[in-house]
Amino acid sequence: MGSLEKSSPRRVLSTVTATSISVSVDSCSPHVTMLHLNFATPPGASTLRVLCLGAHADDIEIGCAGTLLRLLQSYPDVEVYWVVCSAAGPRRTEAIASAQALTRQAARTTIVVKRFRDGYFPYAGAQLKDYFERLKQEFSPDVIFTHYRDDLHQDHQQIAALTWNTFRQHLILEYEIPKYDGDLGTPNFFVHLEKSVAERKVRHVLSHFETQHSKRWFTQDVFYSMLKIRGMEGNAPDLYAEGFYCRKLFF
Ligand SMILES: [Zn+2]
Repeated sequence: MGSLEKSSPRRVLSTVTATSISVSVDSCSPHVTMLHLNFATPPGASTLRVLCLGAHADDIEIGCAGTLLRLLQSYPDVEVYWVVCSAAGPRRTEAIASAQALTRQAARTTIVVKRFRDGYFPYAGAQLKDYFERLKQEFSPDVIFTHYRDDLHQDHQQIAALTWNTFRQHLILEYEIPKYDGDLGTPNFFVHLEKSVAERKVRHVLSHFETQHSKRWFTQDVFYSMLKIRGMEGNAPDLYAEGFYCRKLFF
């Protein structure tokens, strides 16, 4: 993971650097901000390489579309490698169109849509493991967005486990997906979003995944609620944020 020491620069993941700090004993003052952290590219590299992993067509967008938009706005040279592990038929078409639209600002984008059987990932462990081993050779990311380790969906769990299993010196941020199982937890990493970015995220998810509109929960209310609650918990200036789980962070 991130290191200030000299070693193979591209293989060592981005570290996180402090950019601003304001300290006061009055933690309720609106002028007080927690130390902010930014992603730094490895020494000698100007490109921020982002790997997005999702089990299904809309997972990455629901989990971290706002953060991706913010990264693409903030960094001049972002390379995105986008993997959806299961999507067929119209869902495949939706997945590709959505990823293309969301990463339009990226310097380079690779979109991979696999055909692992929806709902059966735990029973396709060997094939998935083989794929992740190939992926590790194919792309060396600075930051990885993947499913939450304690997500109760069996496919999501499998992707989270394989992410940690495969990428062992990388910054990994686990995103969350609201669902029937009621498995939301307590994120410890928040990305503040401007109101316009939050609105763009919700519009994007609703407009790109029409096949999901038959699900009663697939509504703007649900997506805004998530952003608002995490915004409140993360003390976001515009009250919108995405929450993540960060298990290892090196300084
Ligand atoms: Zn999913």
